[in-house]
Amino acid sequence: MKDKETVWQEMLSILEVEINSLGFDVWVNKLRPLKIEDDILVLTAPTPEHKNEVVARYLPLIRGAMRKVSQSPVEVIIVAEDEIGEAPQKSDVTPTAKEPAEVKEQPVLNPKYNFENFVVGGCNRYAYAAARAVADNPGQVYNPLFIYGGVGLGKTHIMQAIGNAVRMSMSNLKVLYVSAETFLNEFVESIQKDKGVRNQAFREKYRGVDLLMLDDVQFMSGKEKMQEEIFNTFEALQNAGKQMVFASDRPPQDIRDLDDRVRSRFSSSLVVDIQPPDLETRIAILQKKSQDAKVNIAMAQLEYIAERVSSNIREMEGVLTKVIFLSRLYERKVDFEICREALNDYRVQECDEITADEIIECTCRYFNVQKADIVGKRKTKEIVEPRQIAIYLINELMNIPLTSIGDIFGGREHTTVMHARDKISALVVSDTKIRTAVNDIKALVLRK
Ligand code: ADP
Ligand code: MG
Repeated sequence: MKDKETVWQEMLSILEVEINSLGFDVWVNKLRPLKIEDDILVLTAPTPEHKNEVVARYLPLIRGAMRKVSQSPVEVIIVAEDEIGEAPQKSDVTPTAKEPAEVKEQPVLNPKYNFENFVVGGCNRYAYAAARAVADNPGQVYNPLFIYGGVGLGKTHIMQAIGNAVRMSMSNLKVLYVSAETFLNEFVESIQKDKGVRNQAFREKYRGVDLLMLDDVQFMSGKEKMQEEIFNTFEALQNAGKQMVFASDRPPQDIRDLDDRVRSRFSSSLVVDIQPPDLETRIAILQKKSQDAKVNIAMAQLEYIAERVSSNIREMEGVLTKVIFLSRLYERKVDFEICREALNDYRVQECDEITADEIIECTCRYFNVQKADIVGKRKTKEIVEPRQIAIYLINELMNIPLTSIGDIFGGREHTTVMHARDKISALVVSDTKIRTAVNDIKALVLRK
């Protein structure tokens, strides 16, 4: 693992190119790396406003830069300097102190991806069963196995679980996991290096295994030479009765520019899909992950997170990691406030297409009131409550300043907006009727 300064310097050199120079100087270059710990890079911003601005404008780019410079997935979190009090000095010493050289030599199979911690639900039951069967009898059932599904739904996890299980129970077997991209890089390198001998070492490496797992095979779309090499590897392995497992973000028929022979090999595999998890499975996953992290989080908070992050388990894990991190940082139990803060960055990415008009419209529909009333001056209870809920939801789902929300509601003061928001925040916890209304309206908005 590189130290935080090196990582941050490398990220800055990427960001400098991607962000206009004013934005870079004013916002990004003022951040400082606080620490890298538990797969989280913590950056500090000089003020809370600075932090909000960076989160709103640049977080996706910063995350992108992080992914480019680090080998393993690392979360980025930004905190304001005055939010962290004493914490920095305390923990600042530890990360560098425990940086053994061995981390560099990363085992390709990540032991944290195993069957025991893979939560099974309707969305992945079939893929799980097939993977288990392959792990129990490699080369004998379902060969090849082809797993497909959207981003962050557990393809790599389940694939590596096969590898880890086989390594455990049949240690004499040679197991190899690579992404299609690594395969390509090694292939290209081998051609350049062994000009005379051709790529002998490369071929031996890939054709001498008992279990080959090739991840993200959609990557080979349009790469003819690579497809040819993969086809030949197939042939060799299949003739020798060796197991192959492929993962892809789409089914074989949807991978474009694919050699017919390769496509027909993929299609004649056992093809299984992984679908996005339903709410129950998402809660179960959060429960499992928080138990594994030895952190106690109440059901209400787990549900709160699971309801808000629906389509990608990796993102949901990212939110949970942040929740745990913040709870340690603030030294208090995980509460709704912490969940909301952790969800903040996530929402900025997910929900920027939502408009205030849509939220107001859905609120009006739910309560059967007129928009003119909601943004107008009337103060009767039938109007005030929907108004406050709409304000609360705009604040939660959109990333706009309180003053702008005030403008939307007929030029109200930002303190009025704040009052409405805080009032509904409290009621969401204590009043079932309000909670139901908020959740139903949110569902209406998000379904659009
Ligand atoms: P993909 O390869 O499909 O993009 P990954 O396998 O990398 O997705 O999964 C993303 C994250 O979600 C990983 O950290 C993984 O452990 C976790 N994950 C996915 N599915 C499950 C599951 N069913 N149970 C537990 N964790 C899961
Ligand atoms: Mg993957």
